[in-house]
Amino acid sequence: MLAGTNPASEVYVRNKIKTVATAGCRAELFRLDGSATLEQTLALVRTLNADEAIDAILVQSPLPEGMGTDAEQRVFDAIDPAKDVDGFHPYNVGLLVQKRPALVACTPLGCIELLEREGIPMKGKHAVVIGRSDIVGKPMAMLLLHRDATVTICHSRTAGLPAIAKTADILVAAVGRPGFVTPDFVKPGATVIDVGINTLTAEAEVTRLFPEGSRKRAAFAEKGSVLVGDVHPDVEQIAGAFTPVPGGVGPLTVAMVLRNTVTAAELRATGKAAN
Ligand code: NAP
Repeated sequence: MLAGTNPASEVYVRNKIKTVATAGCRAELFRLDGSATLEQTLALVRTLNADEAIDAILVQSPLPEGMGTDAEQRVFDAIDPAKDVDGFHPYNVGLLVQKRPALVACTPLGCIELLEREGIPMKGKHAVVIGRSDIVGKPMAMLLLHRDATVTICHSRTAGLPAIAKTADILVAAVGRPGFVTPDFVKPGATVIDVGINTLTAEAEVTRLFPEGSRKRAAFAEKGSVLVGDVHPDVEQIAGAFTPVPGGVGPLTVAMVLRNTVTAAELRATGKAAN
């Protein structure tokens, strides 16, 4: 579901539909115009909840401001938990906390998939998650905990953050600040997962982060903007493993949307879904 005409949302939705179709699923876009009311949006959610042919519902965030400050929460809460492939519904969050997850938030799920596929041990390791949002930081911490990592969650009020981060075997940055995690946050050899996606349009920022002659500077000169993560590029020199931006966590997130869709379809088909 897409409400309004936010350009970034249009790109995200187009990419999701393309990827879902490539995987052999049927994807349909339901549009609401920017002046749609919260009640109209909730009515569409109820229609899709009741449609037996639909296994997965994705509501693109942000919703238009005119719908009110609590609109997103009300719309996400209205989605049938069995079709909530974003894993944002409080019912699914509760299952995750109790370690009996069905549909888990896609970005943290993608980070775990990266760690598992690369054979990076989590058991007994110290994992530090910077960021405590409901969609990334908190579920990320919970998934690491369930894999027997010892987890520390940091946020904007954390005192002595660099020193805490430096004790991490696995460091996850989900802050939304370009180049925030500098080498002095990182223990040599640590695994660094960069969740951040930041678009830089100011030349001074690009110059601060990337040396002359680098590919990012060339890309900026060509396009006038460049995508960067929350991790400073110099971290690459000391990390044992790290994820690039773009091309790291982002594609895994989309892959996990697909996995959750298949999970939701299977659970509903076998009568094991929530509700
Ligand atoms: P968010 O809701 O804005 O949360 C950011 C978190 O970072 C908050 O917990 C905040 O702390 C913390 N923070 C902000 N400034 C800080 C500072 N100076 N020191 C320590 N902590 C600080 O963001 P989000 O939705 O979690 O997303 C985080 C980043 O990931 C963004 O760049 C977003 O675009 C990206 N993202 C990427 C994907 C993907 O597919 N790769 C998916 C989702 C998000 P407080 O709680 O104290 O305010």
